[in-house]
Amino acid sequence: MTVALHGIGVSGGYAIGRAQLYSHDRLEAPHYVLRKVDIPREVARFDAAVAEARSECLLLREHIPEGAPAELGAFLDLHALILDDAMLSEVPKQLIRDTACNAEWALAQQTETVLAQFDSIEDDYLRERRQDVKQVADRVLKALMGHPGHVPRKLAEESAILVAHDLSPSDMVLFKRHAYAGFITDLGGTTSHTAILARSLNISSVMALHNARALVQEGDVLIVDGIAGVVIVNPDAQILEEYQLRQNEWRLEQQKLKRLKSSPSATLDGEPVELLANIDLPQDVTEALEENAAGIGLFRSEFLFMNRVDLPSEDEQFEAYRKVVSAIKQRPVVIRTLDVGADKSLPWLPKASDNPALGLRAIRLCLAEPRLFITQVRAILRASRYGQVRILLPMLVSLTELDQVLDLIALAKDELKRDGIRFNPGIPIGGMIEVPAAALAAEWFARKLDFLSIGTNDLIQYTLAIDRTDDAVAHLYDPLHPAVVQLLAHTLKVGHRLKRPVSVCGEMAGDPKLARLLLGLGLRSFSMHPAHLMAVKQQVMHSHVASLEPLAGKLLKAGRPDQIQALLERINQT
Ligand code: PEP
Ligand code: MG
Repeated sequence: MTVALHGIGVSGGYAIGRAQLYSHDRLEAPHYVLRKVDIPREVARFDAAVAEARSECLLLREHIPEGAPAELGAFLDLHALILDDAMLSEVPKQLIRDTACNAEWALAQQTETVLAQFDSIEDDYLRERRQDVKQVADRVLKALMGHPGHVPRKLAEESAILVAHDLSPSDMVLFKRHAYAGFITDLGGTTSHTAILARSLNISSVMALHNARALVQEGDVLIVDGIAGVVIVNPDAQILEEYQLRQNEWRLEQQKLKRLKSSPSATLDGEPVELLANIDLPQDVTEALEENAAGIGLFRSEFLFMNRVDLPSEDEQFEAYRKVVSAIKQRPVVIRTLDVGADKSLPWLPKASDNPALGLRAIRLCLAEPRLFITQVRAILRASRYGQVRILLPMLVSLTELDQVLDLIALAKDELKRDGIRFNPGIPIGGMIEVPAAALAAEWFARKLDFLSIGTNDLIQYTLAIDRTDDAVAHLYDPLHPAVVQLLAHTLKVGHRLKRPVSVCGEMAGDPKLARLLLGLGLRSFSMHPAHLMAVKQQVMHSHVASLEPLAGKLLKAGRPDQIQALLERINQT
């Protein structure tokens, strides 16, 4: 029977394929059947991976990086103990022998069994150890994947659609390695980091479907309409044909947009507009270059810290930053310092509070762990001599905090000078305006900083009091709410008056329907996922700023949603 499910389309286009129900371990592990003669070798491969994971833990324990939180040592000790337990080091070998499956699959199966047992434990402390077991299993899995077996891996099919109840941002980073056609989830909001990563994959996705995971069966045929936010389960032949047509048309549109790649980014009345790319991992720079981005406007450095229990060292971070800076040549690269907490959790972070979005997140966490921050700043400074690097500070709220952060940056510079390491001493330092307090006090922040970048995802979350990850309030997400538009306009005005460049790097910047409004409000620098650059450029090239300004001024004074919508339509027709 055909069923239509409604959610939020977070990433455009259409996908047609068969449902693959999500399991984290399945996302990670290949599966194949062994020949009988290969079984002893597979068991030995598993033993070698466990030994490798064990010596990795010991090595890390002996070389805890400078600046690491005190908990990291105890955490690694616990992991070594878990690794010695037969539940992970022996049972998978029995599974290999009994079912002739490969080592990765045996480990994934056993991990799922053990984790299910943890889920049923009543004691809070013990139940929380689930996460540790998972991380130890992941470490062994990574060791296995580093030394693959002789049978070719079965890869995820390009036409498979992943169906999950929820996906974390770190799951999404793993997802980047697979070739899925689309994905759907029950939970999640439009600007959750999971949704942002989904957009960066540029595949069709729908979130906040509430009960898709329960309704959809493995192997069902699915149509994912990421534009309307609809998923059709087991469509009949007529619907299928209709969507195949839509899919072809959409692909054609995307191809046409690509022709704008080398056109200059300027409005009809000659205003140059900077179109920058947001990236999550160093390898994303390739796509930014393919789309001819004017630079990197936001490098979310925290993704370097995900899917691992240890911390990236100063050298490892330096190499990652230098890779981006060298690839992008002399164009600017804005590296945002670690923004974790809230929906981006890491294993060594202190236990999340009941209100993690209002807790120890981003710059607050870095001030609580100054060595961690200084290590990162040293790595960024070292990369600064290879190009136009800028530092961006997330979630600024108080000017006292900003002074403390600037002191830590000065300290990092002093250390490098003392060590005789070269860097750009005049590296520009900017701040994110993503909390209403910072927007209203933009003047004072701008006086102490070289540039500002408006993070509309958080600005909307904190202004409208809607948790960006909560699907129950996702319908309240409104970039056109008068309060949001006024905070944006105010920040842009301050930047203009004090001659501090201001860009927008939240999801609003990549929405072609909002590009002309932002131009009319005075924005000249947009940073977005590379996949959206051409659609926004098309809007820029058809805009006449002088005609947009009075209409944007009117929208700024409008309060009623219908008035605002009508004005937006006029702006987009101008
Ligand atoms: C934002 O808040 O708009 C932003 C760009 O940062 P992030 O989405 O990573 O929180
Ligand atoms: Mg933010």
